[in-house]
Amino acid sequence: MSLQNVQTKVTAAARAAGRDPADIQLIAISKVQPTERVAAVLEQGHKLFGENRVQEAAGKWPGFRADYPEAQVHLVGPLQTNKTKQAMGLVQAIHTVDREKLARKIATEAQALGRCPELFIQVNTGEEEQKAGVAPSEVDAFVQTVTDLDLPLSGLMCIPPIDDEPALHFALLGKLAARNGLSGLSMGMSGDYETAIALGATHIRVGSAIFGARVSA
Ligand SMILES: *Cc1c(COP(=O)(O)O)cnc(C)c1O
Repeated sequence: MSLQNVQTKVTAAARAAGRDPADIQLIAISKVQPTERVAAVLEQGHKLFGENRVQEAAGKWPGFRADYPEAQVHLVGPLQTNKTKQAMGLVQAIHTVDREKLARKIATEAQALGRCPELFIQVNTGEEEQKAGVAPSEVDAFVQTVTDLDLPLSGLMCIPPIDDEPALHFALLGKLAARNGLSGLSMGMSGDYETAIALGATHIRVGSAIFGARVSA
């Protein structure tokens, strides 16, 4: 369990898949982790982090960025429309665009800000009731909606159902992205990032394998 260990495995998985390791961004998911663990990873020179709550990100990243100005933060958790402005002032990418109302709000704020984070559409590949994301059958139309709003769409993101074979979901996400001409694939977590890399992941979201198990409050 360490940053270096994960980096080594990412490189090996990329090479095994005939891919350039530089084409895979490792997002260190720092949610709920104690400050000293995050600081240790920053200190090792890692620059890309992920959070799943706007409030939590707002609480810690302005402070970390004072010491590590190059650190980037991606939002990988659900975004409420009323937190859009705050999120856009804070993060360099949003992986969870999942409804038209949110896309429109992002477009409005982007006009005001004069810039927009990189965006991913979250897809509910397992069509789970409780999970966010657009259904696979609605992806093409929603890509069109986001594109029509002139938003910078990088790709698609998924969180496979816990009990399913993740490879099936990664393959589906890859197929949906390819047919929409999108190159970004945000998929793969601590337990399955090597599989995700084999199936084309460009952004892997790894928390506990880097920082250790999340300590619950
Ligand atoms: C927490 C989280 C992760 C990282 O989970 P690990 O299993 O600790 O690697 C990845 N993606 C999202 C959306 C998360 O909320």
